[in-house]
Amino acid sequence: MTWQVKTNLPVEFQIHKVLDALDYSVISGHRRIAVVDETVYNLYKDRIPENTELLVIRSTESEKDWDNAERVLTFFEDKNVLRRSEPIIAIGGGVLLDLVGFCCSIYRRGIPYVRIPTTLLAIVDASVGAKTGINHFDRRNRLGSFYTPTMTLLDKSFIRTQDVREISNGMAEILKLAIPLDLVLFELMEKDPTQLLLDKFQTNEADAIIDRAVTGMISQLNDNLWEQELQRPVDFGHSFSPIVEMKNVPNLLHGEAVILDCLLSSCISNMRGYLSNNELERIFTVVKRCGLDTEHEDFYNVDLLWSGLLDVMNHRNGNQYLPIPTAIGCCKIINDVTFREITKACERMRTLQ
Ligand code: NAD
Repeated sequence: MTWQVKTNLPVEFQIHKVLDALDYSVISGHRRIAVVDETVYNLYKDRIPENTELLVIRSTESEKDWDNAERVLTFFEDKNVLRRSEPIIAIGGGVLLDLVGFCCSIYRRGIPYVRIPTTLLAIVDASVGAKTGINHFDRRNRLGSFYTPTMTLLDKSFIRTQDVREISNGMAEILKLAIPLDLVLFELMEKDPTQLLLDKFQTNEADAIIDRAVTGMISQLNDNLWEQELQRPVDFGHSFSPIVEMKNVPNLLHGEAVILDCLLSSCISNMRGYLSNNELERIFTVVKRCGLDTEHEDFYNVDLLWSGLLDVMNHRNGNQYLPIPTAIGCCKIINDVTFREITKACERMRTLQ
């Protein structure tokens, strides 16, 4: 006898651009139960509605771990959170959103949550898709789930209180999308990145960039939210960086590691004769102008990079599936990179410093 179980899980949620995400009147629910990043709490506590039942936690990359997850889960338990009608409001950067989303996905096999991202990186990237996770076994996001929020509120005014390095870090994620997929977005970033940093993304020009980045991410994720298809252009920058990033917590930020990987992958493409010298130099130039480093000693450590790629291959079902830009705004996925080729690409990277 054979039985077949078959079902569909429809997914639909809205991402709203708002002027004040902490006025959460649009969020349904009897009680307001929120988990907020400690730094964000200290900066914005006066704006958090008084009747909010709050858990304040430190949530830097070093704290994206099981101990913190247990703290969040204990809070849910203590609050007797209703299973369906009291969405947890997650307020913070990418770490907090990933952590709280993960906890919501496993508590009672899933309770609803709302994302309020407070960093540029989280606004353009971490809050758009379905991924949640915590670091474990010394690996990035080794425990996690695909679990969408019921709603996301994007409020770019939070970026005002970020320091410049963190904003550059967010710009790296925008470039990660622009370089392989969107020439127009790349050109918008190229125009005056110094001014974007000075204005902390509070201008109309910055708005256009954020809108385009969010739209671009959504178009990449929409048909592949659960990553059934493992050949993903948005994995650009995520092949060599996880191992380097994890080794360098807290000194190297996520976007900083990702962009170094983007540069190395671009060098691989250049060495293969796809990406022209002129385009490669353009990419390096814009990265520098965004205030980001274009080299790191671990990105010259080919043994480390190779072992990182091998680990990522498990995630891609045994394939490299390495996205490389063939021109700015275009890419292809390759599956046959060699150790020697990475060595050559590192040498090419040195020449562009
Ligand atoms: P983060 O969450 O560590 O925040 C960076 C720092 O900024 C923290 O110290 C935080 O306390 C502080 N902060 C947050 N908001 C602030 C504000 N408005 N003003 C001042 N300080 C503020 O880092 P991040 O760059 O936002 O996110 C990186 C994380 O996001 C990584 O763990 C990465 O894996 C994850 N991520 C997830 C996805 C996804 O699809 N789920 C995508 C990209 C990145």
